[in-house]
Amino acid sequence: MRRWGTSWETARRTRLDRPGRRRPTVEICLTVPELTESVAHLIDQLARLPGIGKKSAERLTYHLLRIPAAEALALAEAIRKVKENIRYCRICYNLAEEDECAICRDPKRQRDLLCVVEQPRDLIALEQTGVYRGLYHVLLGRVAPLEGIGPDQLTIDALVRRVREGGFRELIMATNPTLEGDGTALHVSNRLADCPVRITRLARGITTGSVLEFANKEVLSDALSGRQDF
Ligand SMILES: [Zn+2]
Repeated sequence: MRRWGTSWETARRTRLDRPGRRRPTVEICLTVPELTESVAHLIDQLARLPGIGKKSAERLTYHLLRIPAAEALALAEAIRKVKENIRYCRICYNLAEEDECAICRDPKRQRDLLCVVEQPRDLIALEQTGVYRGLYHVLLGRVAPLEGIGPDQLTIDALVRRVREGGFRELIMATNPTLEGDGTALHVSNRLADCPVRITRLARGITTGSVLEFANKEVLSDALSGRQDF
């Protein structure tokens, strides 16, 4: 058995009533139940997931303990399958269950249009718009010198090779509109400066539904320089 945090915590709470009145003190004894080794281990593992704090990890653990074994084990099996079967597409580095992802294998995709994104989740977000019908290239990150991530650690070499092989009319840089995302896009466009391919980037500026008076000056200047014809 292992103790989770402090077994016994005594909190002395002083109620500050009106001046001149006697200040009563209330002593509260909180009992934190002991956890078995495996329950504490599951909470520790869940708490390591992004966006899951210790409280949420505890809630999830108690939920998993409550539901039927088959249901809980289906989750464990799904995690195992993903870790064993998912790999990166050999062409675009999207997530795939085979050597090539479903998008690269799709004969209906427009094959002269290439959209460059940082992560597979960015690709999914663009796919959900249903607007883009070209191909993708996933960089698997962005150049971040402060974190020690250089261009060599991304799939930029593979992208440059792919574009130099020809066949693309336009390269759409869809890296995030951050300092690092912009730096990554600039690095890629410099590497392909001598290539006869049009390089564009996603429009930026005022969000639909927002108002001008709350937009900051960077957003407004982006919107002005990227203005379009009616
Ligand atoms: Zn692919």
